[in-house]
Amino acid sequence: MPGTVAVIGSINVDLHLLVDRLPGPGETLLGAGGTLSPGGKGANQAVAAARQGAAVLMVGAVGRDANAAAATELLRQSGVDLGLVAEVGGPTGLAVVTVDRKGENSIVVVPGANREVDTALVEAALPRLAGCDVVVLQGEVPPGTVEFALRALAGPAVRTVLNLAPVIPVAAEAMLAADVLIVNEHEAAEALAILSAAPSGLTGDPVADGGALVAALVAAGLGAAVVTLGARGAVLADGGQPVHVPAPEVAAVDTTGAGDAFVGAAAAALSRGAGLYEACTLATAVAAQTVTAHGAQQSYPWAENVQ
Ligand code: ADP
Repeated sequence: MPGTVAVIGSINVDLHLLVDRLPGPGETLLGAGGTLSPGGKGANQAVAAARQGAAVLMVGAVGRDANAAAATELLRQSGVDLGLVAEVGGPTGLAVVTVDRKGENSIVVVPGANREVDTALVEAALPRLAGCDVVVLQGEVPPGTVEFALRALAGPAVRTVLNLAPVIPVAAEAMLAADVLIVNEHEAAEALAILSAAPSGLTGDPVADGGALVAALVAAGLGAAVVTLGARGAVLADGGQPVHVPAPEVAAVDTTGAGDAFVGAAAAALSRGAGLYEACTLATAVAAQTVTAHGAQQSYPWAENVQ
């Protein structure tokens, strides 16, 4: 049975500009190329979950501008329900990523409409959210919104997945209301700081340290935690001892959006009743496949194509 996943989060367009070198102050350069693609961590995760077979509801906001259509194109194509995406006054969220020939980049993010993903929007969505198997949140909407949703959905009916990326200042008690926290190593350290906790016995070995981080997160009160480790996969703890899920070995060309693919695929698996280990096994397979192609959403595989 496919499960239902709601994603409360950001919807952006990403403008990627290729330049020979990054411009200085006051300088005008000719770019070597440019592409506009849909992005935003919330939208990325919604597309990833939908392509893994979940019925997905997106809760977010776009502006009344031309970028709104580009931002939601692959959400639409992937069958995501956009009925709870508000149209608001500000611009659609925009990320301008300028990359030079050496791969150095500079990024400007204009949150725009994503700032309007507020508690009132989530409160209005609560009747539908309460009927979902899994609700996913991340750090590209206001912290008060994330806290409100986690508190309102606490309890056994809905499984909440918090991907604290980027790390925003959510209250410790709200973070602990999440059923599953998914973070990378850097975010895990910052999340532990919010919880006034620290890992013990770090060795410099990524997998062992990932284990120490998830163990510390669970000891601090989280029911379950996952720390992603890039090419090394992920470590999870679902109450018990940390377990490592290795990543399939692939030729990586672009890791943009890999973390979001991981979160979306894991949410889809959890929504149909999979355990956390099984969910992370699917998530590592999906995320590995996305790094073999350029871009974020456009590189996300459909369930039937996951190797
Ligand atoms: P983020 O991009 O959020 O920092 P990670 O770098 O940990 O997150 O990547 C998220 C997931 O994507 C990893 O857990 C892994 O499953 C997958 N992944 C990332 N990079 C690679 C890679 N080079 N090879 C295989 N899988 C990868």
